[in-house]
Amino acid sequence: MTDHRTSSHPGSLFLVGLVVVASSLSSADVVVPKDVSYRARDLEKAPIELVRINDFIDMARGIGNVFMIRTPNGNVIYDTGVPWQAARQRELLLERSDRPVTHIVISHAHGDHNGGIPAWKENLDAGAELVTHERYPYTNRIYGDTDEYLWRVRTGTLYPIHERGQAAEFRSYVPTRTVDVHEDYHFEVGEIRFQTIAAENSAEGEDALLLWLPDHEILLTGDFYGCLYPMVPNLYTVRGEKLRDPLGYVNALDRLLELEPKMLLPAHFDPIRGKQYIAKTLEVTRDGVQYVYDETVKGMNSGKSVYELMRTIELPPELEITQGHGKVSWNVRAIWELLAGWFYYEDVADLYAVPTKEVYADLVELAGGTDPILARAQRWFDQGEELKALRLLDIAKVSGPEKKTALRLRLAILERMLERAVNTHDNMSETGILRASAKQTRAALEARGE
Ligand SMILES: [Zn+2]
Repeated sequence: MTDHRTSSHPGSLFLVGLVVVASSLSSADVVVPKDVSYRARDLEKAPIELVRINDFIDMARGIGNVFMIRTPNGNVIYDTGVPWQAARQRELLLERSDRPVTHIVISHAHGDHNGGIPAWKENLDAGAELVTHERYPYTNRIYGDTDEYLWRVRTGTLYPIHERGQAAEFRSYVPTRTVDVHEDYHFEVGEIRFQTIAAENSAEGEDALLLWLPDHEILLTGDFYGCLYPMVPNLYTVRGEKLRDPLGYVNALDRLLELEPKMLLPAHFDPIRGKQYIAKTLEVTRDGVQYVYDETVKGMNSGKSVYELMRTIELPPELEITQGHGKVSWNVRAIWELLAGWFYYEDVADLYAVPTKEVYADLVELAGGTDPILARAQRWFDQGEELKALRLLDIAKVSGPEKKTALRLRLAILERMLERAVNTHDNMSETGILRASAKQTRAALEARGE
């Protein structure tokens, strides 16, 4: 595997963006890694430390990186990190300059980027402009609106180590300037030109605001392409957000390609360097999204079902990049539902509020109890069809607490699925859900004295 990052501390996060490509090479000669050597979950271990990017840009590393572009007349901040790390990150950056903060640019409304805004209150009160994408107030609002639901169903399962933050506080900050999609906002501080670019869509939502330094060809990207680089975008998030528009993301990737950046400064992990490498990885990402979109549309029009398309659409080898965060099969379904909604014109009952589940008890009764169902589930499992086995267990489950045999089979199924998931894409959400389900099943077995 070719990876353009090297780890100087094995098992840690000191990943240095190293790209050595002779300038005579065209991007066609650049090899794009199919996977990356780190994962989103590694961010939890990221140390808070100052990293000097060059002679005028500093980065305070953390779960979310915070950047400061220093000029003799004032400093520009990009992103603010998570609430519980922001004060220390701010302190590290302000040790580097006593000039006033003129602008705080927020990449998008996720808490690992805007969560630290309150730490900069003093600077905002002193007149620093708070700059966001035009869609930021909207996304910030809907994340707040669904917070109770997501906290209850998601956070403990998918992000078990998270504590409930001060979301209401950081979400209450209102931008003093918003940037429209086709109207970049330009400003100049201390003879450095800045250009904020509002993306049409991104791998992490519709409110991605990028900061471009045209004289230096450096682009601060937030989570424009997600937390890994390069990665299949998360058009559908298991964590529970709006579906993301692939066509808008393709347009935004084209816009970035036109800039020809020589360095990307992402909000997670390390800088990405090398004009050709960046061009090639952005191209591969864009072409992969377009490919999955085209194949999905083609399949829909030719009469295939969404499940058939989820099973069969794969990236061709030259467009394969990590699915450690976004996942192709989930993106297929996201594209389908974004374009055509959730009714598949198969079962008319799907239009009404009575799920299939409501007749599971009848099926158990007709089968003569759960034993024949468990036996059939075991047979499917033995034949390597663990998803069919899991469906049958879910049917049997409605008739009361699961028997030990059912729990043991469920655990074996989940462990096999987890092993496969880890050995294929090691997708954070997929492995997170499978681990959480296996844990619940083990707990249920223990409660029954196993
Ligand atoms: Zn992020």
